[in-house]
Amino acid sequence: MKKLVVITGASSGIGKELAITFSKEGHPVLLLARRKDLMEQLNLENCICKSVDVTKKDQVEKAILEAEEKYGKTDLLINCAGIMPLGKPDKQSYEEWNNMVDTNIKGILTGTNVVLPNMIKENKGTIINISSIAGRKTFDNHSVYCGTKFAVHAITESMRKEVADKNVRIIVISPGVVETPLLSHTTDEQIKESYNEWKKTIESGLDTQKIADCVKFVYCMPQDVCVREIVIAKTKQQD
Ligand code: NDP
Repeated sequence: MKKLVVITGASSGIGKELAITFSKEGHPVLLLARRKDLMEQLNLENCICKSVDVTKKDQVEKAILEAEEKYGKTDLLINCAGIMPLGKPDKQSYEEWNNMVDTNIKGILTGTNVVLPNMIKENKGTIINISSIAGRKTFDNHSVYCGTKFAVHAITESMRKEVADKNVRIIVISPGVVETPLLSHTTDEQIKESYNEWKKTIESGLDTQKIADCVKFVYCMPQDVCVREIVIAKTKQQD
């Protein structure tokens, strides 16, 4: 059997597509998100689904240790879970900021903290963080979301350098607009409307399979080759 792939945010959107893709490739997969029923509905082979909050290290650790007991050590961790409640700085609630910081930043650290020591010990392994073009440049109504994604970039780049000599790869994939329910986290109807208006300029977002293709491509490179970053968007997306 192929090696264990752990995917956070696997109940929806990009993470769900990753789950299907890596399962089809013959990997055992551990799927992590809060909505377990949605992951179970995928009905994938050699798959463990656990309801966890990615901000809670004890929950993430318990799930990973259980999957590793069955399938061996994690070879690939994909940190995909994230939320995007957009808002104006003077109007958005502190709670939304807090949730974004916790989910989008701490949420990539919990699993990493669990799997990285063994990857270093074994001199192999890959961690892929799903960031965003909003982790490279700023957009209106995105201030805290951009902050969290800039953090994902900074953490990825720093960690990459520090573990490079141990042959471990830390990679960041930064998509532009992708067709998923991500905007549903935004509570401000006016912002949602203007986002959807802007989205018309690119006709539609990328389909999730394109992101899964990128993730598969970087993972399938030999372990001594690290595609450090991919930025991918619809050709018509100017920003
Ligand atoms: P979705 O809303 O479809 O998926 C988000 C996933 O994150 C869900 O599976 C959700 O599961 C999970 N999640 C959120 N909070 C938590 C939590 N506290 N604990 C566990 N799981 C959590 O959005 P996308 O697929 O679009 O988003 C995936 C990633 O891609 C995000 O990091 C996002 O920032 C990034 N991205 C998306 C873009 C887009 O245009 N769609 C563009 C650029 C980047 P559940 O609710 O069941 O817990």
